[in-house]
Amino acid sequence: MTDTAKPAYRVLARKYRPDTFSELIGQDALVRTLGNALSLGRLAHAFVLTGVRGIGKTSTARLLAKGLNCIGADGNGDATLEPCGQCEPCKSIAAGRHVDVLEIDAASHTGVDDAREIIEGVGYRPVSARYKIYIIDEVHMMSKSAFNALLKTLEEPPDAVKFIFATTEIRKVPVTILSRCQRYDLRRVPAAMLAGHLGMICQRESIAADEDALAAIARAAEGSVRDALSLLDQAAAMTADKLTNDMVADMLGRPGRRESQTVLTAALAGDAPSALAAFNIAYSRGAEPEMLVTDLLDLIHLASMQAAGGSDDALIESEREIIAGLAESGIARLGRAWQLLLKGHGELGQAPNPAAACEMLIIRLAHTAHMPTPGELMQKLPKTSPSSPPSASLATATPAPSTPVASAPVTSSVETAPIETAEIATAPIETGAGMPSSLAEIVALAETNGEMLLAARIRNHVKLVSLKPGNLQIGLVGAAPDQLAGDIARYLSQWTGQRWLVSLSESAGSQTLAEEQRDAHEKLRDTIAIEPLVAQILDIFPGASIDEIKNPEATDAAGTLVDDNGLLEAGQNNDDDEEMSG
Ligand SMILES: [Zn+2]
Repeated sequence: MTDTAKPAYRVLARKYRPDTFSELIGQDALVRTLGNALSLGRLAHAFVLTGVRGIGKTSTARLLAKGLNCIGADGNGDATLEPCGQCEPCKSIAAGRHVDVLEIDAASHTGVDDAREIIEGVGYRPVSARYKIYIIDEVHMMSKSAFNALLKTLEEPPDAVKFIFATTEIRKVPVTILSRCQRYDLRRVPAAMLAGHLGMICQRESIAADEDALAAIARAAEGSVRDALSLLDQAAAMTADKLTNDMVADMLGRPGRRESQTVLTAALAGDAPSALAAFNIAYSRGAEPEMLVTDLLDLIHLASMQAAGGSDDALIESEREIIAGLAESGIARLGRAWQLLLKGHGELGQAPNPAAACEMLIIRLAHTAHMPTPGELMQKLPKTSPSSPPSASLATATPAPSTPVASAPVTSSVETAPIETAEIATAPIETGAGMPSSLAEIVALAETNGEMLLAARIRNHVKLVSLKPGNLQIGLVGAAPDQLAGDIARYLSQWTGQRWLVSLSESAGSQTLAEEQRDAHEKLRDTIAIEPLVAQILDIFPGASIDEIKNPEATDAAGTLVDDNGLLEAGQNNDDDEEMSG
């Protein structure tokens, strides 16, 4: 290189650009595959390297170019995955001045002319190297005509030509091109591995840094080695002393990891004051509320992975204990916290005061911490007992309970009261041949005798005006069939063994049974919705709704509150539908 007296500062990302594949961190799978292809002599004419930005695609492309053209220190070497770095091709490729290795940035050269230039050059033999190599960066940015021109070359590539494409958006590369390439996916480098890499560099550069600080940088870099090194550069420039977690947090405008951990641990323990205090410390240091929520989500993700049986290998030492502690909350609680935070994260941007919104979110998190999870609820709920009052079964995001939710206490923290049922309770129903004394009993009689259609019609169209044994006065509403009164008289006579007279009356009468039932249902649903246990369930599970109300006492035959399947089967359109979509 240059031998000026005062060496210019080289940014870390450049200085530590890998010279060999073994220095390429986090891409073991790629290196292995490439090594196999090389040793088996199965190298394609074209390669496509894909992965997020800053992950090492260009470095890999150059390494590959070196490896393909390396002749070894003695000048007799073959193509290799371990370019010597000594030979002329290695040196000039590293310096970006090899005549046979052309780097093209498709982002700035998208026209067909460039592609034509490429193709014109393809015809010539390499000047000095083994292969003529075209590295096309951001290949997805090429124009359609450029792709077409390229495709022709790829269909019949000259032996001594190799193409190395790099792209962040593989889906934008035409399949016709992809099908002629060996594809290599570069993975995001795991945070722990990245932190280790940073530690190694700090040692070499004599940068004193806390492990926490490096971990914070690694996390912020999201798997990109280049970003991690740039951040390390920045952080190192900020201080001559030891690099600490707090300094990195300040630099990134992120909460310190320890503060995030405190917020989450306290919130999951239901300790809102401690959680809020930790948030305020982070906020006063300049952490963005949105960043904090992102951090909390990250922690919950890590903890959930562990709770689900994942290994903690990817965690840095100082985090293991905390994550293990959080994992003890269990998957269900962590999942609930995740949902809550994810929703809150989306709302944060719209809030006039994001800090206040974040505090509300933390309070909510702490508030729900002790609430039972769906699984716990289901376990603790008693099975339906014959004497339990009517109650609600709830449709939630989790598998819907098959047993009705009874109103027995669930946990010590959930106080429940029996539901008032007086207004919907009906008098005992005689299903035998006794005299009916109410419209409901007439309907029950019809159902018992299998006359579902008649029962449905009575429910929906008949208002009771007066009822004495053998004499029924009714009003008709809606699209009642003409012969309804006659039918009722005929069947009643048949069922009771007594002659019945059914007459139509103009007087107002009461509600129809369907109307009564609808009113009762609404009342019941309102009662149930404010019943503490149910209210809490509705609160805990976003999207839960009272789906169906079941009366465990009622049987299908005599059910006045149970579902109206009978009616529906009879072809009657039932507009008394309890379903509230969630
Ligand atoms: Zn070499």
